[in-house]
Amino acid sequence: MPKIEIDESKCLTPFACKKCLQVCPHAVFAVAPKEVLRFKETDPQEPGSYRLFVVYRDKCVVCNDCVEVCPVNAIKITLPEGA
Ligand code: SF4
Ligand code: SF4
Repeated sequence: MPKIEIDESKCLTPFACKKCLQVCPHAVFAVAPKEVLRFKETDPQEPGSYRLFVVYRDKCVVCNDCVEVCPVNAIKITLPEGA
């Protein structure tokens, strides 16, 4: 299974971006708020309010489309030795 790393210091507003989600043919990613505060709406434009999650890592076919589409180079995909 490939290893998918997301650099959160680069991917700051995933909800507003979502480029990798849209491009991925296997819907590997999901975006969710980091924490939900009561009585406060989570602002998708606020850096760090949302986080990109890798939900179906086993579905990744290492097409590298997400790596190429990411405007800030936040995704790194590596295959384990011998895979
Ligand atoms: S490499 Fe391809 S299949 Fe894997 S997460 Fe990226 S876009 Fe999806
Ligand atoms: S394309 Fe890059 S910046 Fe945009 S949500 Fe995905 S990882 Fe974050």
